[in-house]
Amino acid sequence: MTFEYSPAPESTAIVDISAQYGLFINGKFVAAKGSKTFNTINPATEKVLSKIAYAQASDVDKAVVAARSAYTKVWSKMAPQERGKYLFRIARIMQERAREFAVLETMDNGKPIRETRDIDVPLAAAHFFYHAGWADKLKYAGAGDNPRPHGVVGQIIPWNFPLLMLAWKVAPALATGNTVVLKPAETTPLTALLFAEVCQQAGLPTGVVNIVTGDGATGSALVNHPDIDKIAFTGSTGVGKGIARAIAGTGKSATLELGGKGANIVFDDSPIDQTVEGIVSGIFFNQGHVCCAGSRLLVQENVHDELIEKLKRRISQIRVGDPLDKNTDLGAINSAAQLARIKEISSSGDAEGAHRWSPECTLPEKGFWYPPTIFTGVTQANRIAQEEIFGPVLSVLTFRTPQEAIDKANNTPYGLSAGVWTEKGSRILWAAKQLKAGVIWANTFNKFDPASPFGGYKESGWGREGGRHGLAAYLKGGEK
Ligand code: NAD
Repeated sequence: MTFEYSPAPESTAIVDISAQYGLFINGKFVAAKGSKTFNTINPATEKVLSKIAYAQASDVDKAVVAARSAYTKVWSKMAPQERGKYLFRIARIMQERAREFAVLETMDNGKPIRETRDIDVPLAAAHFFYHAGWADKLKYAGAGDNPRPHGVVGQIIPWNFPLLMLAWKVAPALATGNTVVLKPAETTPLTALLFAEVCQQAGLPTGVVNIVTGDGATGSALVNHPDIDKIAFTGSTGVGKGIARAIAGTGKSATLELGGKGANIVFDDSPIDQTVEGIVSGIFFNQGHVCCAGSRLLVQENVHDELIEKLKRRISQIRVGDPLDKNTDLGAINSAAQLARIKEISSSGDAEGAHRWSPECTLPEKGFWYPPTIFTGVTQANRIAQEEIFGPVLSVLTFRTPQEAIDKANNTPYGLSAGVWTEKGSRILWAAKQLKAGVIWANTFNKFDPASPFGGYKESGWGREGGRHGLAAYLKGGEK
């Protein structure tokens, strides 16, 4: 017997979206120099939410000048424990306004309210709390006895975790005494602009945080600005490589958090029901728009059929639809462009002979949607085993021996995450040693904590964010 769910929509009354937003420079919202604007839309309905100012190079320059002045005159002179108090204040305001942030993020991004409410926003606040505590203890961060900030940091973030990526970037930068010019992604600027209001509410000295909205050209102007001391970028590997080339020889330091194609390895002694839950959260969390998603499932051959049968049964229960409904598991794809990309790579799976399966599900007519999908019979050479799809699509491969699992898992240009499912502790430790991935989860997946460093090997990036390692990257001499 199946029970129907009644709709449980979250009210949007708590958010107050302006018809138009300016740039946040030197503590104020200001108009951009040109009159160009762009729309941000709700990907679940395609309705325009707001018009956003488009920052050109001259606007980026104003933001950098404001950040430099705040750095020289105020922030670098402030006692560390005073800096810490501002971070605590920001963290508390984010908690107080958590519901507002969650609803706004769901509207602008398309991710389910269950995730923004329970994961994105609480974790973002946790990053500010964690780093607030570090502000006066930097001598212990691993960057020598007299750790010094870089100065002005340019930060560029993607659309998949807009507020959380902002927190990963802004909290350590401020705790270490840097000032910031941040550029959110063009499809998800609204929670960054709400964060600007939080900075005002917290009485943060003007110019310490500046937010410039725009696209790749705006990001490029920030990267190439001569008065930027460090770049912190999260996004695609292609753009990351371009940034590495642009700053080579300039003396700017950088952390780059890029793409991934995480292997989730299931050994035949794994607890199968628990493993199925881990696989589902590994690939369908945030519509699979997750750099560290477990997008390649490697299953030991003798448990493949049983596991896939249970997985299909579980995936059939995933609820796809209105992201503001509290029962929704899988929300909207963030943009038409991302949906086209998911469709294109997935169709290569069909063309290359893999077997596609999706449960019966009715997708809404308006907005951008893709059903939860698995491909079985995937081989290592297939595009869907090699390229990041960044959507709710799982590629399933098999292996016979533990060594074959490791070889297949490492057969990728990426190296961000991996998962290991087995009841044997010794096998977990053995596998973790062999896997070339920055984060390895054992009998769980997609768990995040501000105290835990996160980052990649190979084409997944340079440097770490989070924990003491992430902090050191914002201090001179701290990058390793
Ligand atoms: P993207 O690289 O297209 O864009 C990311 C940001 O960079 C956006 O703000 C964009 O405007 C800006 N940008 C684009 N071109 C630029 C340029 N030439 N110079 C400077 N900035 C530029 O990536 P995306 O599609 O927004 O995000 C998805 C990608 O991000 C995926 O590959 C995903 O794996 C990756 N990601 C990585 C992590 C991580 O921690 N490793 C976390 C989240 C997302």
